[in-house]
Amino acid sequence: MAKIAQEEIDRILDATDIVEIVSDRVPLKKVGRNFKACCPFHNEKTPSFIVSPEKQIFHCFGCGAGGNAIGFLMKQDNMDFPEAVEFLARKAGIDISRFTREQGDSDSLFKKLYELNKLAATFFQNTLRSDTGKKALEYLKKRGVDNEILSMFRIGYAQDSWDALIKHCRAKKVEQGLLGKAGLTVPSAKDAGEYDRFRGRIVFPIFNEKGEVSAFGARVMDDSLPKYLNSPETIVYNKSNVLYGLNFAKKAIREMGYVIIVEGYMDVILPVQYGVLNIVATSGTALTPKQIRTLKKYADTAVVLFDPDQAGETVSLRGLDILIEEGMKVRLATLPEGDDPDSFVKKNGKDGFLKIIDQAKDLLTYKLDLLVKRKGSRDIEGIIKEMLPTISKVENLVIQSEYLTQLAERLGIHEASLRAEMKKVKPDYAYQSERDDDQQRSETKFKLSELHLLGLAISSRKLFDRIEEAVGIENFDDENIKNAMMLVKEIFSKGAEEIVPGKLISRSGQDEAVKEAILQASTKTHITKDQEKVLDDCIAYIRKENRGKTLKELAAKLRVAQEKNDQTEMKKLIVNINKIHKEKVA
Ligand SMILES: [Zn+2]
Repeated sequence: MAKIAQEEIDRILDATDIVEIVSDRVPLKKVGRNFKACCPFHNEKTPSFIVSPEKQIFHCFGCGAGGNAIGFLMKQDNMDFPEAVEFLARKAGIDISRFTREQGDSDSLFKKLYELNKLAATFFQNTLRSDTGKKALEYLKKRGVDNEILSMFRIGYAQDSWDALIKHCRAKKVEQGLLGKAGLTVPSAKDAGEYDRFRGRIVFPIFNEKGEVSAFGARVMDDSLPKYLNSPETIVYNKSNVLYGLNFAKKAIREMGYVIIVEGYMDVILPVQYGVLNIVATSGTALTPKQIRTLKKYADTAVVLFDPDQAGETVSLRGLDILIEEGMKVRLATLPEGDDPDSFVKKNGKDGFLKIIDQAKDLLTYKLDLLVKRKGSRDIEGIIKEMLPTISKVENLVIQSEYLTQLAERLGIHEASLRAEMKKVKPDYAYQSERDDDQQRSETKFKLSELHLLGLAISSRKLFDRIEEAVGIENFDDENIKNAMMLVKEIFSKGAEEIVPGKLISRSGQDEAVKEAILQASTKTHITKDQEKVLDDCIAYIRKENRGKTLKELAAKLRVAQEKNDQTEMKKLIVNINKIHKEKVA
């Protein structure tokens, strides 16, 4: 999409109230000047998610998420930047069509691809119901899929032809080159032509959260390989974002409070047919953090149900740690040997299926059982080595402690020695608390002072001017804070008297670190009545630290000059050093 001018984004943000946008999606409670809620982006019981109408930003003190209205929509509704801007523009009644049209057509390409995918899905569906699709339909019927579900999931058949879809689209006057962009055709190696990607396969449209067809998955009906063939990534399909079936399942997931995660298309389709509605599939990929964050919008508990074969176990083990890191409560369910979710639900119905879900083991117990099975119970060291990193990712320390007790018990070892091992697993925490403690403290204080100054600079032009004079923006040590200060300077130089942080954030472009600095400056630094004093203190501290740094550098140079007996250089350095010492007194 072509770039929308910053002035236009400012105009849209001026017409937007972040409180309204957020409260449409998260119930907010007014507390003082702000609004509070339990954070939609991490799992919590006490609210640490704040929306500031004054600053037009949201911020979570728990997980650190934050940004302006655009950022909120991107995170909460999985929009990309242009989509979020367009959404807000529409809501505010601002016409930005001239931008979206000018813009290399990439915005309309979205629409065109969704439309083409819809057209292709219908074509495949019709093929399934035609003579050509007879065998495929029989196959699906034999696997137990009924008509209603076939229509709901828009399952179709791609006939065994090099150009059936190409011809159909030509007849429908689909723009040239679009099929390739949608990943529906493959360029021919021999000539400039292209041919249908999906041939002789049952086709499953893959829907986005809104229910639009963004890609296709296709499987063979015999033993030929590859068993599954998927659309490549396109501008409307990013496979690490998509969860198959989520468009249908989201309501049920919210109602039931948990989501069942399975592997394949059929693993979703049949349980749904039997009435298990809160179910989605990763469609072959390992679970990604992005998928988990998407699911967390609907529930905080997941039951992972994978095939009991080795492949399934590997996939689930890889996904486990990510689930924990993302703060999802995870349980694992295993089906009897030889069953997969689709065959199991056919034999045992909804109740049988839910029984398996009820018996799901807690994640760490599952992992431990699996390790014992694989390594044998004598390889205690090997088991500990794989268990501790997982346990260390559990944020809740009480739960973490319980796990350690359990693990010690199961392995028949002393809890104390396990806890000692545990300490070794966390080099990152140890690093922060023990190493270079003093230096780190002063670095943190220095950065905090710079952040305070940025916060003050944003709040008023007068304060910005004083900071610029006393410290000089080019002297800011932290690159990101410095860049944020440059943005502030730019806005004030155009005559603004004050700056809304939410708008400033939209100027940081794609630079997350600069955005983060602005956010921290406007939230973590509590600037109260005594702005002047905070300002003076911070300036004094930064100047003192900078002087100290310069003195150290000069002293080092002086030592070198003395070694070389370079008299001129020595004199020059001593003059400089004295000058700085005098400044200190002043
Ligand atoms: Zn949070």
